[in-house]
Amino acid sequence: MDEQTDLRTRMLPAAGESSKEIVDKATELEGAVLATVLHLRAIWLGMLLSQWGAHLATETGTRLACGRGGKARWVERRAKTVLTLVGRVTYRRAYDHCASCHQGEGLGDWA
Ligand SMILES: [Zn+2]
Repeated sequence: MDEQTDLRTRMLPAAGESSKEIVDKATELEGAVLATVLHLRAIWLGMLLSQWGAHLATETGTRLACGRGGKARWVERRAKTVLTLVGRVTYRRAYDHCASCHQGEGLGDWA
């Protein structure tokens, strides 16, 4: 075996291993980027829903019919977490409580 053939025989398997390593790292990087993008989308969606919740609260006011004959009044803004296509999304919305029927509800939870 001449020197060129010997070098080629040793180099080709090493190049193959290097290519596999690059593909593995690229796949790992792709997964990390996808997870980050989904996480950012979940944060963005939470911000959007919180804004929607705030807008809904200003539209409805601090007292509204509870649906059981009483009047529910605003208590506070509460966090709610929902499962979406981009993962768990947490947002804040107005929470009302009715003293007559002792039921509470987050504004927009029915939507
Ligand atoms: Zn009520």
